[in-house]
Amino acid sequence: MNGALTVVGLGPGGPHWLTPEAATILHGADALYGYGPYLDRVPVRAGQSRHVSDNREEGARAAAALRHAATGANVALVSGGDPGVFAMAAAACEQIERGEAQFKQLEFAVVPGITAMLAVAARVGAPLGHDFCAISLSDNLKPWELVERRLDAAAGAGFVIALYNPISRARPWQLGKAFERLRRHLPAATPVVFGRAVGRADETVAVAALERADPSQADMATLIIVGSPATRVIERPGRAPLVYTPRSADGAGA
Ligand code: SAH
Repeated sequence: MNGALTVVGLGPGGPHWLTPEAATILHGADALYGYGPYLDRVPVRAGQSRHVSDNREEGARAAAALRHAATGANVALVSGGDPGVFAMAAAACEQIERGEAQFKQLEFAVVPGITAMLAVAARVGAPLGHDFCAISLSDNLKPWELVERRLDAAAGAGFVIALYNPISRARPWQLGKAFERLRRHLPAATPVVFGRAVGRADETVAVAALERADPSQADMATLIIVGSPATRVIERPGRAPLVYTPRSADGAGA
């Protein structure tokens, strides 16, 4: 079987954050699959077919892309950011593991992209300079109690925490609850970074102390980085503050 599926990360924003490898794969594909707003970021090429799907249909989209690849086509499945971070690469692996037997015979590759937390971190300095973790606040694919357990464990262990999928119309209260939970473990002054639509024309970045962090500042396009007790803010005259987590820890921080 000659078909191939490549899951391609587009990065979080504009074409300047698309890797040359991703651009080459996208250009060479016979067919593109993905959520509409992501496909809109890929330049149109004559002779290439496009298959737009709803964002909530990850499994069905991955299966359709794999089925198309099984006809012998070179198929690219696109994801925002990195395709392995809360995105399509894992959805495709699930289909390869549990879906049609022919999926296991296909060539399969994942092309990495800049994930949102790295782009947001870069905007403010180096908040991820020491140990960190990433948690999706979406409780569509896991129970909320598990999210709370992970927030408790991560904050209690001194990790900086990147929060993906903080809020949406269908999930309006989760971020407020998460901040409440984190306030039990972390100092009131812990820096919280809100990075919205980073790398795009409407980018905004703001830093607030955890005690004043306002969930209504976030939307679906926002990635939040909650510092650890070691994370520091450097105020600079006439310039935006820098947020960073020092490279070393003394063992008392957590
Ligand atoms: N695979 C993606 C993440 C998908 S989950 C990646 O690696 O970045 C979707 C979440 O990613 C959003 O709710 C938001 O939290 C974050 N996100 C994606 N693009 C972003 C951007 N340009 N700026 C800030 N956050 C972004």
